[in-house]
Amino acid sequence: MIFETIANTGHEEVVFCHSKDAGLKAIIAIHNTVLGPALGGLRMWPYKSEQDAINDVLRLSRGMTYKNAVAGLNLGGGKAVIIGDPSKDKSEVLFRAFGRFVNSLNGRYITAEDVGIDVNDMEHVFRETEYVTGVHQVHGGSGDPSPFTAYGTLQGLMAALQFKHGNEDVGKYSYAVQGAGHVGSEFIKLLREQGAKVFVTDINKDAVQRCVDELGCEAVGLDEIYDVDADVYSPCALGGTVNEQTIDRIKAKIICGAANNQLATDAIGDELSRRGVVYAPDYAVNAGGVMNVSLEIDGYNRERAMRMMRTIYYNVGRIFEIAQRDGIPTYKAADRMAEERIGIIGKMRLPHMGNGAPRFQGRMRGQ
Ligand code: NAD
Repeated sequence: MIFETIANTGHEEVVFCHSKDAGLKAIIAIHNTVLGPALGGLRMWPYKSEQDAINDVLRLSRGMTYKNAVAGLNLGGGKAVIIGDPSKDKSEVLFRAFGRFVNSLNGRYITAEDVGIDVNDMEHVFRETEYVTGVHQVHGGSGDPSPFTAYGTLQGLMAALQFKHGNEDVGKYSYAVQGAGHVGSEFIKLLREQGAKVFVTDINKDAVQRCVDELGCEAVGLDEIYDVDADVYSPCALGGTVNEQTIDRIKAKIICGAANNQLATDAIGDELSRRGVVYAPDYAVNAGGVMNVSLEIDGYNRERAMRMMRTIYYNVGRIFEIAQRDGIPTYKAADRMAEERIGIIGKMRLPHMGNGAPRFQGRMRGQ
C-alpha cells in the first residue's frame, strides 16, 4: 500500500525516523533529485493520524520539486515532518535526533524551516548535520526571507503586467492586498514606493493601521477585499482564497501574490484562464524564500540573493509563454515548465571529456 502511494506520487525515497528516547516520530520524503539534492522545509504539526502526516509530507515534497525546478535552482524536492505539537513537544534532543537522521542521508536531503519550526530549533539540528539551511545569521544563515519574497513577488507582478498590458508601470495600477504580515507589508512598501494605489485588509487591525498611517494605504474589511475595484488581487495571507465563492466577486484581471496554494481547485484555475484573468502561479512568484536559503549551501551573499530574485520575472514570463504556446492555463504551464526542465536535465549526458588514465592510452592510440 505504501509503495503504491509512493509510486503514484513519483517519490524516490521515504524515510521513517524513530527515536523512543527523543520522542521522535518523523518522516523525510525525497521526491526527486534529478536536479540536485532535495531541499525542503521541516514542518512540526500535531497530525491526527500517521496517514495524515504521510499524505502531507508526500504532497509538500512533490510541491518542492516543482517549485525548485521552476525557480531554476539546481535542487530537487523534499520535505520532512515531525509528528508533535510545537507548543509543547519541542526539546533539544528531539531536534538533535532529527538532525542525525538528516545527516544519515549524506546530503540527499537538505532541511529548512517550515510551519511550527523556528531558528532556535534549527540550531539543534545544525549541531548534528551540516545539511541544514535557515540557521541563524551568526552561522552564515540568511535570516528572514520575507523581504526577498516580497521583492520576488514584485518581479512576478511586473511579468504579469507586461503580459497583460505590455508595460511594467507598477505605479499606474491599483492593488487589493490581502494580508499585511511579513511578506505583505514589505510588498505593499514596494508598491507604494512606485506610487500605486493600495487597498489592504488583515485580521490584525494594528497591521492595517500601520499600512494606512505609514504607507498611505486604504483599509477595507476582511470580506470586502474581494469586491474592491482594483487591477490586481494580491493574496498574501491564506491559501484557497480564489474559489467558487470569490471568483465572481474578484474584479481584478491579474492575480499575483505571495500566499501558497491560492487556487482552491484546478477547476478555478481553468475558469480564470477562460475569463482572461492572468494568474501568476503562486509557487513561481513566491520562490524568493527558497532561493534565499538555497544560497546558504555555497555561502550566503545578500547581494547575490537580491539579484537572484530578478530571475522570478523571467520564470513567470516563461510560464505565460508556455501557457500561450500550449493553450493551457498558467497553473498547468508552471507544472509543465518544471517537468520539461527535469526531463531535459535528467536526460542530459555530458560529452566525454577524454580520459588520461595510462591503461587506456595505448588502446586510444589503436595499439
Ligand atoms: P505572516 O503570518 O507574517 O502574515 C500573514 C498575515 O495574514 C498576518 O498578518 C495575518 O494576520 C494575516 N491573515 C491571516 N488570515 C487572514 C485573513 N483571513 N484575512 C486577511 N488577513 C489574514 O506570513 P508571511 O510570512 O507574510 O506569509 C504570507 C503568505 O506567503 C503565506 O501564505 C506564506 O505561506 C507565503 N509565503 C511566505 C514566504 C516568506 O518568505 N515568508 C515565502 C513563500 C510563501
